Amino acid sequence: MDTTCLTAIIPVFNEEEVFGDLVARLRDVLPTLGFERVEVLFVDDGSRDRTRELVSEVANQPQENGLFFRGVFLTRNFGHQAAVSVGLAHAQGSVVCVMDADLQDPPEVLADLVAALADGADVAFAVRRQRKESWVKRLAYDSFYRLLFVISSIEIPRDSGDFCCMRRNVVDAMLQLPERNRFIRGLRAWVGFRQVGVPYERQARAAGETKYSWRKLFQLAYDGLFSFSNLPVKLMQFLGFVVSIGSMAVALFYLGWFLIRPEQFPAGTGWTTSIISLWFLSGVQMLFLGLLGEYVFRTFDESRRRPTALVARIVEQSVESET
Ligand code: UDP
Ligand code: MG
Repeated sequence: MDTTCLTAIIPVFNEEEVFGDLVARLRDVLPTLGFERVEVLFVDDGSRDRTRELVSEVANQPQENGLFFRGVFLTRNFGHQAAVSVGLAHAQGSVVCVMDADLQDPPEVLADLVAALADGADVAFAVRRQRKESWVKRLAYDSFYRLLFVISSIEIPRDSGDFCCMRRNVVDAMLQLPERNRFIRGLRAWVGFRQVGVPYERQARAAGETKYSWRKLFQLAYDGLFSFSNLPVKLMQFLGFVVSIGSMAVALFYLGWFLIRPEQFPAGTGWTTSIISLWFLSGVQMLFLGLLGEYVFRTFDESRRRPTALVARIVEQSVESET
């Protein structure tokens, strides 16, 4: 394993409450991991509190024990996954780690992840043993991972998040993937290489509130499902097929009845049945048109080729560059 430089990518969005603790823990742990230099790359995802000043402040401090901080500031809030993508593009390390700012991913676990890389893995991703979150959130996460695991076209390890360490070759491979809707843990699984899971206890958030609203969480789940599975279209085709065959059978049945026993044929009745099947089938059609629309929209979205996020400025070692 190349130990010249380790990069820790940390996306931050309104993390002023936890920032001080985070930097202190990083200062304790990172210099002990056996790298010549350690870069902490904060990607500020459009914070509206004091996080920006705090990031600029550490990024301007001189290197100490080989440890230095850099700040990449996005022009607005683009979301966690976009921030991590920008981090991957700016990381200098021969080994690159991704972690959350709120100390739910304890920096001490990086030692285990780095050890797994030293043992020959290309990707070491952290797998949580248990979650310290509300039961509603746990249930939501759990169902999502189960569903994703069952239906996705690649094997996305269950209960792994974005917390991981990767070798440079893996980062370069991920950077080559051109898509804009970036579900990082899916892309990471997709690129292959030698991947190992390292179990850890996920902590409760050290300070502040979660920055993942239910809307953002739902969007993340949606991106994962639609980017890594074609099951919805398959299901749509299958159901369309079954319903068509079924209605043909029903039509044949009535035709037979009409030809064989015309005197008993229930002409003029069956209004309720007609209306029910009309509404039901229209509903099914609309649902599946919606699913189809999702794929059409995603194709359109990707074809616009907009960048995942825009960088406003970068702060590093007292050089400040405006872009
Ligand atoms: N985050 C971000 N942009 C966002 C939301 C979150 O950069 O729009 C960062 C946040 O600062 C943290 C990480 O993503 O470092 C994970 O967020 P959080 O801990 O709030 O999510 P949770 O652990 O509750 O799912
Ligand atoms: Mg968190």
